[in-house]
Amino acid sequence: MRIYNGKSVFSGIAIGKICVYKKDEQQVKRVKISDIEEELARFAAAKEEAARQLQELYNKALKEVGEANATIFEVHQMMLEDVDYNESVENIVRSQEVNVEYAVAATGDNFSRMFAAMDDDYMRERAADVRDISERILTILNGDGEHRAVTEEPSIIVADDLAPSETVQLDKDMVLSFVTVHGSTNSHTAILARMMGIPALVNTALPMDETVDGKLGIVDGGTGRIYVDPDEKILAEMTKRQQEELKKKELLQTLKGRENVTLDGQKVMLYANIGNIKDLAMVMQNDAEGIGLFRSEFIYLEKEDYPTEEEQFQIYKQAAETMAGKRVIIRTLDIGADKQCDYFEMEHEENPALGYRAIRICLTRPEVFKTQLRALFRASAFGKIAIMYPMITSIKEIRRIQEIVSEVKAELDAQKTPYGEPEQGIMIETPAAALVSDLLAREVDFFSIGTNDLTQYTLAVDRQNPKLDEFYDPHHPAILRMIAMVVENAHKAGIWAGICGELGADQTLTGEFLAMGVDELSVAPGSILPIRKIVLETNVGEYKARHH
Ligand code: PEP
Ligand code: MG
Repeated sequence: MRIYNGKSVFSGIAIGKICVYKKDEQQVKRVKISDIEEELARFAAAKEEAARQLQELYNKALKEVGEANATIFEVHQMMLEDVDYNESVENIVRSQEVNVEYAVAATGDNFSRMFAAMDDDYMRERAADVRDISERILTILNGDGEHRAVTEEPSIIVADDLAPSETVQLDKDMVLSFVTVHGSTNSHTAILARMMGIPALVNTALPMDETVDGKLGIVDGGTGRIYVDPDEKILAEMTKRQQEELKKKELLQTLKGRENVTLDGQKVMLYANIGNIKDLAMVMQNDAEGIGLFRSEFIYLEKEDYPTEEEQFQIYKQAAETMAGKRVIIRTLDIGADKQCDYFEMEHEENPALGYRAIRICLTRPEVFKTQLRALFRASAFGKIAIMYPMITSIKEIRRIQEIVSEVKAELDAQKTPYGEPEQGIMIETPAAALVSDLLAREVDFFSIGTNDLTQYTLAVDRQNPKLDEFYDPHHPAILRMIAMVVENAHKAGIWAGICGELGADQTLTGEFLAMGVDELSVAPGSILPIRKIVLETNVGEYKARHH
C-alpha cells in the first residue's frame, strides 16, 4: 500500500480502479515503415478529410459569425496546401522511412517554432495555426472520434492536470473521483468536481505510471489522501466509512420538500449551480428551488466549434421546461482565463485573468453575444429564465449590453420570432462592481456575488496558482464587508442579492450570510440539503445578538 497526500476539493470517499489519464495520448510514436507510397497515400487521404472538415467549419462560421471570423478556416485550408509544409512531411517520410504521423508532428513542431520566432505579428500568429492543422491531421490519422472515452468502467481518474474543456468531456458516469498532480482548489476543474459531488484532490504528488495505473485506489476527500493498493485493514475501514456517509446522505433526503426558512421565519432561496443540462438530474434529486448559476460557457467548451443559436436554444429550453416555472439563471458566456476554447482563437496574454474574458469578449464580438442572447430570449418563452452577465465593472458595460439586447429584440420582432421577457442581473465579482453596486442596482433585476473571482481580484491572488492557495482567503474581512455592502445596496434599490461563488456553500458562514440578509445561495447540488439543515436550525435574531 502506498499513500499520497493532496489537497481536497470535495469530501467523500471513492473506492475503485485507478485510471491514469495522459493528455498526450496524441503523443506520436516514431515507427519505421516499409511502404513509403502507402504512407504518403495515407497522408493525402487525411489531408482530404481535413480539407472537408475545414470547409464545413468555414460554412458554419460564415453563417454564424460572419466572413471576417470565418476566414481563419480558409487560412487553414491554404496551409494544408502549403508547398513547404507538404514537402517537409514527404521528405521526412521518404528520407527517414518513418510513419506519416511522426512526419506531420515533427513538421508541425518545426514550422510552428519557426513562425513563433518571427518578428512579424501576423506570422507569429500563424504558429498556432500550423500546430492546429497538424493536430487535425493527426486526429484523422489516429481515427479518433471527437471525444475519447477515458475508461470503460467507473474509475478514479488520475491526471497531471485537467483543463475545464477536458473535464467537461469526461463521461461523468465513469468518474468516481479526480486526483490531479497539479491544479488549484479554486480552479474550474475543482468546481466541476464539486458540482458532480465527487471526492477530488489536487496537488497530489503521485507518479503517473504503471505503479498507479490500473491499481485499486481509495480517495479520501476528508483527509486529502489517496491510497494505492490499500491493505485489507484500510479497505475495510474506508468501506465502512463510505457506507456511513451514504447513510448521512440518506438522512438528509428527509429534508426534501421542506421550505428554506430559519427558526425565526427568515427565508432564503437555495439554488443550484450547474454546467450542463445533464446536471439537472442532480438538481432535482437535491430539491433545489431553482438554478442560480448555469455556467453556459461549458456548452462552448464541450464543442469543437461555436454552438449555434438553435443548439443553445434547445439546451436553455430544456432547462427552463425541466425546472417547470422555477427560476433558471443562465450566465452568458464566461470564456477566457482558464476556460479556453481553441476555436475562439484567442491571443496569448501575459495576464489572462486580467485579460480578454467574459463580457469583454461578448461586447467586442457582438455576433457571438447576439447568437446566445437570441437563444436565451427565445427559450425564456418556455419557463422562468433569467440572464446574468459576468465580470461587470461599470455602468458603461451595462448600457452597452442594454443596447445589444434592444437590437436583438428588434431583430426577433422583425422576424416575428416569439420570445419572453427574462429578468436580467449581473454578477458582482470585481471590486469595482462591489464599490459601485449602489449605482448598478438601479439598472438590473438582481445581483449574484461571484466570490471566486471577487476573492481573486480583491486580494490580488491568482485563483489558478496552487502556490497561493494559502493566501486565497475568501474569509478575509475585505470580502465579507463587500458582500454585506452589496446586499445592502441591492436592498436599498429594491432588488435581491445572492451568492453563487463557492463561498456560498461554506457552512461555517451560512449564519453570517443570513444575518447579512443574503436572499439566495446558489451552491453545488450536493450542498443544498446540508445547507437547508443549517437554515432550519438557525435563529437569525439570536445569531446577530451573539456575533454582532
Ligand atoms: C465566481 O467567480 O465566483 C463565479 C461564480 O464564477 P466562476 O467561478 O465561473 O468564475
Ligand atoms: Mg467568476
